[in-house]
Amino acid sequence: MNFVFAPHPLAHLPITGSDLRFPVRRIFCVGRNYADHAREMGALEQAEGREPPFFFSKPGDALVGGAGEVAVRYPLATQNLHHEIEWVVALGGGGEHIPVAEASALIYGYTVGLDLTRRDIQARAKEKGHPWDMSKGFDQSAVAGAITPATACGHPAQGRIWLEVNGESRQQGDLADMMWKVPEIIANLSTLVRLEAGDLIYTGTPAGVGPVHRGDVLVAGVDGIASLRARIV
Ligand code: MN
Repeated sequence: MNFVFAPHPLAHLPITGSDLRFPVRRIFCVGRNYADHAREMGALEQAEGREPPFFFSKPGDALVGGAGEVAVRYPLATQNLHHEIEWVVALGGGGEHIPVAEASALIYGYTVGLDLTRRDIQARAKEKGHPWDMSKGFDQSAVAGAITPATACGHPAQGRIWLEVNGESRQQGDLADMMWKVPEIIANLSTLVRLEAGDLIYTGTPAGVGPVHRGDVLVAGVDGIASLRARIV
């Protein structure tokens, strides 16, 4: 096959304990999946768990990540870039209309990631009823650590998820507090799109989101399973 120019390289992540890389296809994100965060965003119906999950996405090539410190460029067109620490599911299989009971078997592994958000653009979009794309799907908007295979960590339903900025605690939650659990998220999303191996799903953030600035160092993790370190440049 001859292309008119070299195709853009695929984004990929390291896998803890392996020399193989995880090739990333698409990036899906769940909105407001922890009640305390839904509340801080003023989404009270979501906070009470009466709304079905909702999704948005980022381009696959918005991903930056790895096992060491990741440099993240402060993006264009914002004065209010926010951190959102999230538990990230890496799919090793896919399908449509996946039953909840069969969803975990399709998961290759897990990591933590940042759903970086241009909050000022999002606020304007919400006000006008416009799409969220430009507040969520910009260059380097998805950060992720190395993937831990489910063969090593199982399918954790609980565990502390946390984020520090410059050594100061900013976000803290527990995976057990997710309103929609990972298998439910996969089942629901697979009624909307055909999921495939390589898809990442960011599963929502606990309370405490806030601004980051050039020079900030973000360290985050889920205790004993996954971690990441990023510097805003
Ligand atoms: Mn998010």
